[in-house]
Amino acid sequence: MREGQCHCGSIKFEVSEEPLHSTLCYCVDCRRQSGAPVLAWAMCKKASIAVKGEASVYHSSETGRRSFCGTCGTGLFFSNQQLDQMGMIQVRIAAFNDPNSIAPKIQVQTAERPSWMTSITELPSFVRFPT
Ligand SMILES: [Zn+2]
Ligand SMILES: [Zn+2]
Repeated sequence: MREGQCHCGSIKFEVSEEPLHSTLCYCVDCRRQSGAPVLAWAMCKKASIAVKGEASVYHSSETGRRSFCGTCGTGLFFSNQQLDQMGMIQVRIAAFNDPNSIAPKIQVQTAERPSWMTSITELPSFVRFPT
């Protein structure tokens, strides 16, 4: 059982089965809606997820729906018509309490990836903020 939540804790969720896919997505919808250069998604069976709390929903495309906490703004889930038909839902990996428990397997929509994302491992790195 994997658990996750939004930043303020108003919305909590549990996923009881292994995700089918795990992906880093650079599409412009993910970038604009999150204000982040990339989002990490785990595709989970809808029937395997239990959610406590009421998420707000933003319609980000014709059938795309992005769920987020209306109090703290944390993005949590994505669904669209195709995922609905498959009985699946995308869950943001970074919203899980242990983000290490699901590693992305592929990167998608790299056509829209900021060019500097490919060299971030070469940047000077600090375990905490540098002093
Ligand atoms: Zn919240
Ligand atoms: Zn995306």
